[in-house]
Amino acid sequence: MKELSSENYLTNLFQFTNDLIHILDMEGRIQKVNPSWLNNLGYTLEEVKYKSIYDFIDANDRDLYKAYRKDVINGINTGCIEFTLISKDKLKIPVDGQVNNIFSGSGIFYTQAILRNITEKKETEKKNLEIQNRLTRFFQYAPDAVIVIDENQMITEWNLKAEIIFGYTYQEVHQQPLNEFIIPPAYRAAHIQGMKRFLTSGEGPVLNKTIEITAIRKDGKEFPVSLSISNIKIDNKWLFIAFISDISERKNMEESLILKQAELLQSQLMDKRKTDFLTVASHELKTPLTSIKAYTQVALNMVKKSSDEQLVSFLSKIDNQSSKLNHLVTELTDLSRIDLIRMDINKTTVNLGAFITDVVSSLQPIIQQHTIELKNIVSIELEMDTIRIEQVLINLINNAAKFSPAGNPIEISTALNNEFLIISVKDYGIGVPAKNQERLFDRYYRVTEISNHVSGFGIGLYIASEIVKQHGGNINVRSELNQGSVFSFTLPVQKV
Ligand code: ADP
Repeated sequence: MKELSSENYLTNLFQFTNDLIHILDMEGRIQKVNPSWLNNLGYTLEEVKYKSIYDFIDANDRDLYKAYRKDVINGINTGCIEFTLISKDKLKIPVDGQVNNIFSGSGIFYTQAILRNITEKKETEKKNLEIQNRLTRFFQYAPDAVIVIDENQMITEWNLKAEIIFGYTYQEVHQQPLNEFIIPPAYRAAHIQGMKRFLTSGEGPVLNKTIEITAIRKDGKEFPVSLSISNIKIDNKWLFIAFISDISERKNMEESLILKQAELLQSQLMDKRKTDFLTVASHELKTPLTSIKAYTQVALNMVKKSSDEQLVSFLSKIDNQSSKLNHLVTELTDLSRIDLIRMDINKTTVNLGAFITDVVSSLQPIIQQHTIELKNIVSIELEMDTIRIEQVLINLINNAAKFSPAGNPIEISTALNNEFLIISVKDYGIGVPAKNQERLFDRYYRVTEISNHVSGFGIGLYIASEIVKQHGGNINVRSELNQGSVFSFTLPVQKV
């Protein structure tokens, strides 16, 4: 094989390289150009030989090239230059490269430029810049904080929302390491580790998912955020885009919800304890009370025959009082049943007239200071739990008696419309102030100004309303202070 002489070698290089080479004389006239130069600009050698190089340089770059070449000739500038050539078709061809001096053997001075066509590189750069600009515009007004960092965790984007959430302006953080701004010290090492791991192994467990974590504001305050990180490769380099929203408010709400639920559970527990206590207490009270009442009645019957008046009167009082006590204990038992939603309703069909007459005749002997009058009692057959509805009537009639002066009558009336039977108990007593009426059917509610001297727990009306509700009716009151009250409840009428 023939050895390549250095001259041959240079000629080969000149002929076949992709670089654009031109050699100019001192005046800037083209002496030589290589095939690549001609190809890139679309000329033949004849068309360019001895022409001024400036005819082929973009008008905007001519001065630049001239100054640069002058510096090279004067031995000042040995760096690179980037400028634009113009092709025969008037296309701009961006190039970069270097110019250097050559001396021919005959002492003539030339400059030689070796240039690279950078059209493609320029286009990629332009495209990347466009993407970058588009991203910037897109992120700037996003509803979340958007932060972009590069592979060295330097902040490159920081939108308006990030400024608002974190308190730093774009100028303060641009090209600064993210770690020092918003990441709490406890997470900093993990953050750097995670970045390193991704860049070396491609593993990024936090990428492309949403996590909840804390961040730090400029004022040093740590607060909860939701964070999603995406990664994109631009120009062969990774960028990491973090979308962050402040979730302090949501967290606060969640916390107060949990607190409320805990309070509710606590109060349900207390209620359950109270109910358990009521169940046990009323049972314990009921047993001795039943035997007191039984013995009193037996004793009463025995002494009635021997007609000892004082003893009869004492025993009657004991009997009366134990009836009252019995009523109260029944209320307590009912209350615990209602709380446990255990009140069973056993409906039977009764004749309304007969039913009300029965209830009144058993009550009248106990309520001796009032006359119970029946008015307009409609005669229909009705389905109801007689024990429960009797209880409602007894409660209402007892209240009418308790809260009206002796001697005033108590009136019981009924009315019928298409769907409901209405039963009303009317008294001419102290009445209920308008402001208290709404709460009368609440558990334990008593109108303190008027009921303090009258025995009761404030649960009779509550139980009555529960029983009525369970029958599918409702209960209400009309009352005027010092005039009296009407308590009415409805029961649905079954259509035959
Ligand atoms: P209690 O009678 O045991 O206090 P209730 O639930 O039966 O409990 O009644 C609640 C409150 O409603 C009573 O304390 C009283 O203040 C008021 N009230 C009930 N009925 C009447 C009435 N007929 N007249 C005036 N006030 C009444």
